[in-house]
Amino acid sequence: MKISSVGFSKSCFVFFLGFCSLLLLLIPAFQPPAQLLDLPQPRPQVRPAPVKQAHHAEDPEPVGAGGAASDSGLKETHRKHIKTKDTRRDPSPHRDEDLKSSETLGGSSSQSRPPDQLTLKDIFIAVKTTKKYHKSRLELLIQTWVSRAEEQTYIFTDAEDKELLLRTGAHIINTNCSAAHNRQALCCKMSVEYDKFIESQKKWFCHVDDDNYVILPSLLDLLSSYHHSQDIYLGRPSLNHPIEAAERVKSDGSVSVKFWFATGGAGFCISRGLALKMSPWASLGNFISTAEKIRLPDDCTIGYIIEALLEVRLTHSDLFHSHLESLHKLPADSLLNQVTLSYGGFENRGNVVNIVRSFSLAEDPTRFKSVHCHLYPDTEWCPEPEPGHRT
Ligand code: UDP
Ligand code: MN
Repeated sequence: MKISSVGFSKSCFVFFLGFCSLLLLLIPAFQPPAQLLDLPQPRPQVRPAPVKQAHHAEDPEPVGAGGAASDSGLKETHRKHIKTKDTRRDPSPHRDEDLKSSETLGGSSSQSRPPDQLTLKDIFIAVKTTKKYHKSRLELLIQTWVSRAEEQTYIFTDAEDKELLLRTGAHIINTNCSAAHNRQALCCKMSVEYDKFIESQKKWFCHVDDDNYVILPSLLDLLSSYHHSQDIYLGRPSLNHPIEAAERVKSDGSVSVKFWFATGGAGFCISRGLALKMSPWASLGNFISTAEKIRLPDDCTIGYIIEALLEVRLTHSDLFHSHLESLHKLPADSLLNQVTLSYGGFENRGNVVNIVRSFSLAEDPTRFKSVHCHLYPDTEWCPEPEPGHRT
């Protein structure tokens, strides 16, 4: 009996203690502070970008022809005209966003973002030129493709040209860089191009030279295959192997790095997500010092920052063309599906694309006018299309 009464008092005591703690918890002063309850919630799981970065992460090869990325994100219309090296492809034209990139952009969860409906206005096209080519090269561009993309074309030159300013709706930017054709001058221009792009808030940065024709519908199609928040670097290498340079940014130059770069003479494009990540080595004059450290030209420096420092692969594209190629070999039926074209300079006048009609070789030695008339037959200076011929 004694034992059971002790047991009963113990139970009463335990019950009493429990009741008191309950009362204490109901008093606000004894509740845990609000900020402890507001701890950040785990992020919702977002699928990473399925194509490029996932593929690269799996690829153990640092750089090399076999491990190179390719046009795997192209729309079908483009794909049939190019030699693709990578057949892995997400069938949807718009990729899921890369969470890392969306954070770089200061965005919130990428799940809530609508797909990237790209228009030409979203593309920043930088044309590099110099005073001596305002008449002989730029004039032709202004007359042709630039006239169809004035708002988004930015011409980077090295001199004031009031006449040019008055005649075009495109933006003419005097970089105040030297007019010389040396590394410092060219990197100076690229540095201004980069800063102006960042300032523009546009989704894509595309660089071309003043001897390039940009086929705008193809460019739009190509970039629409990706999302601007992904890490995308698109262009054509001029070499069939990666370039090697002494690593003087991350180390003292005693080791070398191998990386691919897209040749500037064929044009290249960079997504905004990736461009923002380049900032420590590219913005506000840093591009010039990076180029000086590795002692390479502007387009190589872009490749170095992206491939060697950021470890993002160049997506090799056969749609960009420079006059280093045999342009007349480009198949006529896929000519208008290319992204950029070019023409041979003084030393190689005959190196032009093979396009019939519109203008003779004498009237249109670069073939850019003929290409333009095939693309935009409604242009006032284009000849009337011949009856029975499709343009
Ligand atoms: N360029 C320049 N300054 C110069 C010479 C050329 O900015 O003193 C530009 C030119 O306008 C073009 C690019 O550099 O956009 C490449 O020039 P070019 O086509 O003459 O040479 P290549 O294609 O043979 O490198
Ligand atoms: Mn050139």
